[in-house]
Amino acid sequence: MKKGTFFYSVIKEKCPRCQEGNLFKHPNIYSLRDIGGMPDKCPVCGQDFLVEDGFFLGATYVSYGIAIAISVPILAVMAMVFHVDILLILPVILVVLTLLLPPIMRYSRSIWFNFFVHYDPHWREKQL
Ligand SMILES: [Zn+2]
Repeated sequence: MKKGTFFYSVIKEKCPRCQEGNLFKHPNIYSLRDIGGMPDKCPVCGQDFLVEDGFFLGATYVSYGIAIAISVPILAVMAMVFHVDILLILPVILVVLTLLLPPIMRYSRSIWFNFFVHYDPHWREKQL
């Protein structure tokens, strides 16, 4: 994956500005103690991770989209291919989404952050 792209930053959970510093404190995505813990600033370039109060509330829109993108194919395959009853499909979707909650939450934040902060290959020159 090429550094400098939107997907590099999102998939690797890196700071969108320098794409070197980690976006989250704990590298283990299923570390239940600190799933969404983020440092206040990028440890490499100093990009502020607390852009403004409630900034990451917008990531809930992204997580909703991801949850729909996961749920609809499960629903379609189970209903149309395997002809499973809807009352059995919904608990399956609920379990899948619950298990995927940590990565959905982290990737949503990463995607949301990358909408507003973009890669700057010259960030070192702008440091004071
Ligand atoms: Zn950075």
